Amino acid sequence: MQYPEPIAQLIESYMKLPGIGQKTATRLAFYTIDMDQVDVTNFAKSLVASKRDLHFCSVCGNITESDPCSICSDKTRDQTQILVVEQPKDVMVMEKMREYHGLYHVLHGVLSPIEGKGPEDINISSLLTRLQTNEAVKEVIVATNATPEGESTAMYLSRLIKPAGIRVTRLAHGLSVGADIEYADSMTLFKAVEGRTEI
Ligand SMILES: [Zn+2]
Repeated sequence: MQYPEPIAQLIESYMKLPGIGQKTATRLAFYTIDMDQVDVTNFAKSLVASKRDLHFCSVCGNITESDPCSICSDKTRDQTQILVVEQPKDVMVMEKMREYHGLYHVLHGVLSPIEGKGPEDINISSLLTRLQTNEAVKEVIVATNATPEGESTAMYLSRLIKPAGIRVTRLAHGLSVGADIEYADSMTLFKAVEGRTEI
């Protein structure tokens, strides 16, 4: 049996989300049809608005409504430190910890030879530009995840940045190998930042 076109399209849309297969997409599609009209309308509106109103900060690469983002334009933040993360959601996690007051840089990925991801495929060149144009920066804290790709990205950045006389540090291994920053609690994260080491 063929599904009516709107349902078929809805299933197809859900299947574009990560980790959602045909079965789950079908269940979600039928669930959506059962939802209140108001809820469905709000859902659809927030989907459209999130794409329309959010951009990547031209300075740090974080998700923002204004450019530069509120963190980059906040002059009360410590301008001597830049903490480098893989994804915008890592910034949210670090900010929730409330103990880090420096700046950020979002790579939007890590170096991964297996996936064919080289330095030009992630947000590295804008970090170098930032370091060249902003003499206030004294330390780059690399907070990529403790995965093999995260580690090799950290080493790559260290080799690139250190010759400029800028300190490059890495979060302490309070975070277990392979653990995502995303899942670390505030205390673990705080200790990882406090105990960071030179690389
Ligand atoms: Zn920014």
